[in-house]
Amino acid sequence: MTHASTASGIYGEILRECVACRAEKIRYWRQKNFHYTENASNKEFHIYRCENCGTGFLNRPPHVKLLQSIYQYSGQALTQSITLEDVLAREEAFPNCTVDAERMSRQAHLINNSGNGRALDIGSGFGFYTQALRKVGYRTVSINPGQYENEVFRNLNGDEPIDVMFEQYEPSEPFGVVMMSQVLEHLLNPDNAIGKVADLLAPGGVLACAVPNYDSFLVKLLGTRDNACLWVPEHVNYFTESGLKALVERNGFKVVKVEQITRIPFNALSKRLRLKGQSAAVVDGWVKSLQAPFIRLMHRFGLGIYINLYAVKK
Ligand SMILES: [Zn+2]
Repeated sequence: MTHASTASGIYGEILRECVACRAEKIRYWRQKNFHYTENASNKEFHIYRCENCGTGFLNRPPHVKLLQSIYQYSGQALTQSITLEDVLAREEAFPNCTVDAERMSRQAHLINNSGNGRALDIGSGFGFYTQALRKVGYRTVSINPGQYENEVFRNLNGDEPIDVMFEQYEPSEPFGVVMMSQVLEHLLNPDNAIGKVADLLAPGGVLACAVPNYDSFLVKLLGTRDNACLWVPEHVNYFTESGLKALVERNGFKVVKVEQITRIPFNALSKRLRLKGQSAAVVDGWVKSLQAPFIRLMHRFGLGIYINLYAVKK
């Protein structure tokens, strides 16, 4: 990533308004640094926060070339290729993507009132969303720039995603469902992206999207320390529910359903405490039994880890 280490290649243009609701009342929040390798020097990013909708974003954002240089290999921090067997083993130990993909595809299908049976999976990753959309009966188009993920996709689904960023994609026919799971937080211009999604959908078609929640208890607890949301510089936007709604509604959608999703691996705590054997099993048991009431409480206060939103094109 040597070409990214010159100052001119790191940052994009200064932002003057909120990426979600366009309010001009934005304020510096915190700083977060990143470095890809041990000996690379730190790159400094500033996080701004909108005083109207609460959404956060990097300002200045990373340069588009820096992001492209990262995403040509992986959109989820893979530093080397991974096999389908490894991905499936992970899913079996901690069902995550498969559960989300099935729930969101079923939900989108229920809401889709366009009569159009084509689905677009933007940022298709390992391919679980495409697989789930096909299971509910859709003909799919998948786009994803990451070579490592696309190889797993090929082995899972038997075909190839189109290897482009969404900004470069030029479709020929409309869709009934557009799936954007863990994508919007990566896009430098989410407003353009949602406008483009509106153009791609048939009237009555559905946008289903999932983003990390900037209001989540993890962000409140950990601040800029590593959490599902503030992952710099790959995540450039940090949405709140009201910011995400404003973004989508401004682009010709009616929001029909919003829900929060929180999933905590039951062994995360014992691992962090470096417990083994019997004591690990005891702590894992506590976490398992306390998880459901804890998650219900977090969701009641809007503090869940992910936001799922479904919106219909008017
Ligand atoms: Zn805002």
